[in-house]
Amino acid sequence: MAIILGIDGLEIEYVEEFGCRNLMQGSFGKTDISEFEEPRTIVLWSSFLTGKNLEKEIVAMGNERMWNFKLKAEQTFFKNFDSFKAVDVPGYNYSKEHHLRERDLLKKFFNDEITVEEFIGPMVAYHEKIKENFLADLGAGFGLLFYYFNVADVVGHVSFGVKEKMQQIYMDLDEIAGRAAAKGEPLFIISDHGMKAVGQYGDHRSEYGFWSNNLGKELGNPKITALSAFVAEEMR
Ligand SMILES: [Zn+2]
Repeated sequence: MAIILGIDGLEIEYVEEFGCRNLMQGSFGKTDISEFEEPRTIVLWSSFLTGKNLEKEIVAMGNERMWNFKLKAEQTFFKNFDSFKAVDVPGYNYSKEHHLRERDLLKKFFNDEITVEEFIGPMVAYHEKIKENFLADLGAGFGLLFYYFNVADVVGHVSFGVKEKMQQIYMDLDEIAGRAAAKGEPLFIISDHGMKAVGQYGDHRSEYGFWSNNLGKELGNPKITALSAFVAEEMR
């Protein structure tokens, strides 16, 4: 079984500063996303899944409809595996309901209608649910198990400049990576884009994302679109 942990908005500087050894694994580094005009989550994950830059196609759908973009398994590296389970992956089967709720609450937070904790609470609760399912699925024997976690991105948008808050989130993600690594199977960790602090808040970085693996493969500074072939060829 191969395992992919997709972690939205994971910033390499915090991974190193907080000493998240399980997220770093044996080999890790930055991806190169500078070919994209903007570091949009849905565009980057879809481009990772297919190995093609899908920015033009997805942006043409417009801001509202962009999140409806859905690939078929045959268009992605999922087709290279005998069996797979993908959970909450943007561009494939992301939970639209949760995304809309997240956007709605974020708007309320920035309009001063709810507190930061009232925003973070439901986001962490959703994360806990996905985490529980992931840990349960670790023993299920899929050819590929791909879980997506977006808590670092969503909490990052409201608190990236608040290090203690972010450290809690990163340590939790590090624990998840540790539980996955304990399976002794090929483990690939990937993030679409890093984050940078804007005061107490956070914004997407446009230059790089994050990768790591436990296969001893030093990938350098690969384009995110080059990693589709890596997963298809090296992770099986
Ligand atoms: Zn993202």
